[in-house]
Amino acid sequence: MERYWNPEIECMPHEDMIMLQNERLVAQVKHVYENVPYYRDLMDKKGVTPTDIQSIDDLHKLPFLTKNDLREAYPYGLLAKPLADCVRIQSTSGTTGKRVVAFYTRHDIDLWEDCCARAITAAGGTNEDVCQVAYGYGLFTGGPGLNGGSHKVGCLTLPMSSGNTERQIQFMRDLNATILCCTPSYAAYIGETLHDMGLTPDDISLKAGIFGAEPWTEEMRREIEKSLGIKAYDIYGLTETSGPGVAFECSAQTGMHINEDHFIAEIIDPNTGEVLPEGAKGELVFTSITKEAFPLLRYRTRDICVLTREKCSCGRTLVKMCKPMGRSDDMLIIRGVNVFPSQIETVLIEQGYAPNYLIEVDRVNNSDTLDISVELSAEQFSDTVKDIQRAEKELAGAMKTMLGINPKIHLVSPKTIARSEGKAVRVIDKRKLH
Ligand code: ADP
Ligand code: ZN
Repeated sequence: MERYWNPEIECMPHEDMIMLQNERLVAQVKHVYENVPYYRDLMDKKGVTPTDIQSIDDLHKLPFLTKNDLREAYPYGLLAKPLADCVRIQSTSGTTGKRVVAFYTRHDIDLWEDCCARAITAAGGTNEDVCQVAYGYGLFTGGPGLNGGSHKVGCLTLPMSSGNTERQIQFMRDLNATILCCTPSYAAYIGETLHDMGLTPDDISLKAGIFGAEPWTEEMRREIEKSLGIKAYDIYGLTETSGPGVAFECSAQTGMHINEDHFIAEIIDPNTGEVLPEGAKGELVFTSITKEAFPLLRYRTRDICVLTREKCSCGRTLVKMCKPMGRSDDMLIIRGVNVFPSQIETVLIEQGYAPNYLIEVDRVNNSDTLDISVELSAEQFSDTVKDIQRAEKELAGAMKTMLGINPKIHLVSPKTIARSEGKAVRVIDKRKLH
């Protein structure tokens, strides 16, 4: 049976949701215009006033905000409330450059935790559950967000933070954790460590995992589900819009429902800024309509994705986003060909390798090179040199079919590629260093 944290909202008829969004958007634009000079200037430059925005149909008139705006306005330039009303700061992981900070009032924390509570409930969580939060705690939003959501749901919360993997497993066993929250790469590492400790999924009580904060493939999902004996749910969010919980997966596991009572989503053409129709692939843009302290309007996430309003079997009416296919700035252009790291991961797992790999791109004699190091399992490693060379060739062929270019494959010894306890670093682009 599907569980909902807030069924009135999660299953609200779409027409009612639009009315709610209209009302909230109009108030939010006014709030931002009056309190954020940085955004007021952008609106003035575009010749838009708050009265031009009467409903979500007018959303496209508003200017975009980008990560560069956030960096320029750092730290207080986009703050819409007096600091005295703010109770928290969080910061991005800085995956793609300088960090940015976001501010929260008590109300903002509350709505964020509520979104996380929806995610935990959709994964089957109740006050009977023991929820192990192994996302990092601190400035990173993963730990604090899921921690707050877990409290709301009434789970017994284990605030483990990331790292110390054997201790994670010990607590998981001693306290019968039933839900695990962490990055997918850390979940894979926990699964691997469980196996190395001579344990099987039967030795733990986990039933569900809530994994996000980085891109991961369907193949990776199946691996994790198998190694931990769970159902693995995706969760999406970004610091700029609050943190995890902007969107969450339901039992259908075919995309994440966006919490539309708080965030209006649009898909745009990243080159022209034009709004694209439902079902089109493009850059995801969010307008936060309920946040007080850091209410970003039309924030460009750089995440490439597709939205769909097809009826979902779970009963929720909230629009669904597909798994982000990587960020526009994650995409590597190698010898003129667009390559997403997620494509490489898909091939690896399909070919029977574990998701422990490192992608290195360089430029030698004016030509791009692509080297992929892939770790072998102990069993695979016992093969003869000849077997390993053949395997390298086979894998290179499979990559060529997927990517359209020929990489150099290096099959390396077990446990030689660093494991991730947070967001995995899988790409080194040395061209940027030259
Ligand atoms: P940073 O941009 O420094 O990594 P955040 O920690 O706020 O800062 O991370 C937000 C970003 O993480 C998103 O914009 C998105 O690219 C990525 N992300 C978050 N959740 C997911 C997910 N479930 N699937 C794919 N990518 C995700
Ligand atoms: Zn659903």
